[in-house]
Amino acid sequence: METMDAQPGDVKRHFPFHQDSLFNKGLVVTFLILPLMAAVYALNQVIRHEVGWLEIGLFLGMWAFTGLGVTLGLHRMLTHHSIVARAPTRALLLIAGSMSLQGPPVDWAATHQRHHALSDREGDPHSPKDGFWHAHCLWLVRNRFVRAGPAHDKMMADPVARFVQRTWVAWAILGFAIPAAIAFAIHPTVLSVLNGVLWGGFVRVFVGHHTTWSVNSMGHVFGTRPFASGENSRNSWILALFTWGEGWHNNHHAFPNSAFIGLRWYQIDIGRWALRALQALGQIRAVHVPTRDHRAARLRRNLGARNRLPRPA
Ligand SMILES: [Zn+2]
Ligand SMILES: [Zn+2]
Repeated sequence: METMDAQPGDVKRHFPFHQDSLFNKGLVVTFLILPLMAAVYALNQVIRHEVGWLEIGLFLGMWAFTGLGVTLGLHRMLTHHSIVARAPTRALLLIAGSMSLQGPPVDWAATHQRHHALSDREGDPHSPKDGFWHAHCLWLVRNRFVRAGPAHDKMMADPVARFVQRTWVAWAILGFAIPAAIAFAIHPTVLSVLNGVLWGGFVRVFVGHHTTWSVNSMGHVFGTRPFASGENSRNSWILALFTWGEGWHNNHHAFPNSAFIGLRWYQIDIGRWALRALQALGQIRAVHVPTRDHRAARLRRNLGARNRLPRPA
C-alpha cells in the first residue's frame, strides 16, 4: 500500500486493530518485566566480574541471529517484499525473527504495514505523537496489533509464512533452548546452563526489544531528515549501529521497498552486508534497491517540499 495516498478509513479496514485478551496483555507485560529484571541481574554480574566469554558469546551470537531475523526476515522481506529468498532461507529468516519475541511474524508485518500507511497520523500503531513511551513499548498493551484482516490474509497465503506464524511459540522457546544447549555442551553444569539462558535468552531479548522499539520511538524524534518523507522519521547513525541498519529510518520511510536501508557507502547497514553474504551463497534471488536517479529525484522533490514540512517536534 502506498504510504502517502492511503485514506485512514481504507487502512483501518485493511489492517484492523485486534482487541487483545487480558491474558495476552499479561504475557506481554511479563515479557517486558522478566528481561528487564534479568538485565539488572546481569549488570550486577558484570560489576562483580562474574561474566565469561561463553556468556558474552551467547549474547552476541543470539542477538545477531535474531536481530538479523527481525530486520531481514520480518521487516525487509515479509513486510516490504524487498527481498526474494529461496524457501528454506525464507523460513530460516522468519524463524530467526520469531526468536526475538516480538510477536508472530505475520502479526508483526501487518502491524508494521499499518505504521507505514498512517505514519505519525491518527491510527498509527506507535507514533511518538501519542507519547514517547507509547511509541516505545506501551502500545504493545493498547490493542494496537493487527492480527487479522485482508493484508494479514494475503501474507498468510504464503505457506512458509503461514507455517512459521502457526508454530511461533515453538521458535520463541527455541530461542532460549539454543543458548542453554550450547552452554551445556561447553560446560555441563547447572550454573552454566542458567547463565546461558540468562545471557543468550533474557538479556538478549531485553537488548533486542529495546533497540527495535527505539526505531519506533527515537527513530521518529531524534536525527536528521535528508528526505521529505511526509512524517517525522529520522536517520541516526548510532541507532543504525545497534539495529542492524534499521536506524536509517528516514531513508526507510522514503524508500520502504528498498532492501538496503543504509543507502550511501558510509551509512553502516549490517543487514545489507548480511544480505550480500546470503546473495553470494545463492540464497537470495532478487534484491530491490532504488537507483541513483530515483534517489536524486526524491531529494530534488524535497527542495520544493521542505518549506511545507511540519517543524520537527
Ligand atoms: Zn517509522
Ligand atoms: Zn518498514
